[in-house]
Amino acid sequence: MLTAVAAPAIIGVANAATGPALPGPSPLDTGKVEGGKVEFPNWRGEADRPSPAPPAPLPPDQRVGFAIVGLGRLSLEQILPAFAECKKARAVALVSGSPEKAKLVAAQHGISDSAVYDYQDFDRIADNPQIQAVYVVLPNGMHREYVTRAAKAGKHVLCEKPMANNSAEARDMIAACDQAGVKLMIAYRCQYEPYNRETIQRMRSGELGAARFIEATNTQVMGPADQWRFKKALAGGGALPDIGLYCLNTARAITGEEPVEVFARIFNPDGDPRYREVEETIGFMLRFPSGTIANCSSSYGAHESKDLRVRAEKGWINLENAFAYEGQELRVAHREGKAESIERLRLPQRNQFALEIDHMATCVKENRVPHTPGQEGLQDHIVMEALYESARTMAPVSLAAVGELDATRGPEPRQEG
Ligand code: NAD
Repeated sequence: MLTAVAAPAIIGVANAATGPALPGPSPLDTGKVEGGKVEFPNWRGEADRPSPAPPAPLPPDQRVGFAIVGLGRLSLEQILPAFAECKKARAVALVSGSPEKAKLVAAQHGISDSAVYDYQDFDRIADNPQIQAVYVVLPNGMHREYVTRAAKAGKHVLCEKPMANNSAEARDMIAACDQAGVKLMIAYRCQYEPYNRETIQRMRSGELGAARFIEATNTQVMGPADQWRFKKALAGGGALPDIGLYCLNTARAITGEEPVEVFARIFNPDGDPRYREVEETIGFMLRFPSGTIANCSSSYGAHESKDLRVRAEKGWINLENAFAYEGQELRVAHREGKAESIERLRLPQRNQFALEIDHMATCVKENRVPHTPGQEGLQDHIVMEALYESARTMAPVSLAAVGELDATRGPEPRQEG
């Protein structure tokens, strides 16, 4: 059946050069400005997901200015590009020991030469009011020094994981930031990544019952010996603090609990000079007070694999590439009458580094405690030290019970508009 449609408004004027006048845009086409944001009505049918709202970034001069300390792979490959997707943060300064690299990177990202510092003159950041926060992306053994110096310069600090080399350094860093009255956040990107967050929320909602097992794997194959990750003074340890940390931190974030008993075994290949100071492979188990057991595997000598499984009373969750930068695939299984239903979720694509950096910017702007503050990093160091002790003594190690859920975390991050 044919239905009559209203004639569109004609806004153009027909003339010989432009041809017939075109219909003007409708409110569905133009959208509207509301509350300082551009909004479009949903143009898709009910059966499809609406397209995500357009990003609503703050004007650059209202965003929190970050100095990036250390121009290694993570800074250049992930963090600086992620600023392009940030809505509340911008990169305004760089700190590097390589002047040629720093000059080039500054030009690439529109950062002025006068906002490029080296490690010696780092403390001069105190005089640059554009820098409100410092993102420390240096080898782990340098985190304490640069977090402390940034705090003394009066700047808020976002520090890469692992927080430090050990819990004593982590405590110093928390004290330095408290004393200076600045915020300290540890860059646990997975706690801001949508698929990991969905996993945590599903388990916390109780829909799948209690988790009996969490199985987390983070492995990769490492290259040549001459890199800081094989030097204990710079790395603190091997696979455990670098990548096994994701398994530990995620198991803690899913349960919200702290482990009361841990057990670990370490393996190092004979005669491999890379593993004189740090471990290649570690398998570890965490027992949580509610009964959940986490079995975690991490290695520098097994082909890349970064997966998470939660086996619960009424279903399971599989998150492929859980700890990777991209490629997450989430499946949730539970009974559906006579059938086993396996749901595969596709969430809107978001850059997890941008979400994490914007969270820090929000905390600075709104004077909030970060979701992953220094205490969250310290707690991982406390558990990692117990894991090393267990591996050394080949016996389980007990840890003090923590009654409260999420004892080391600040409020949940909001989805940043
Ligand atoms: P990288 O080796 O690529 O970069 C390290 C940078 O530090 C280099 O620019 C190097 O020149 C500089 N540096 C200064 N002094 C140094 C010294 N004495 N020895 C070695 N390097 C020195 O390392 P990266 O992968 O960028 O890691 C940096 C930090 O980021 C580490 O804490 C690491 O754990 C963390 N990281 C986090 C993620 C994540 O997904 N969140 C991923 C990779 C690395």
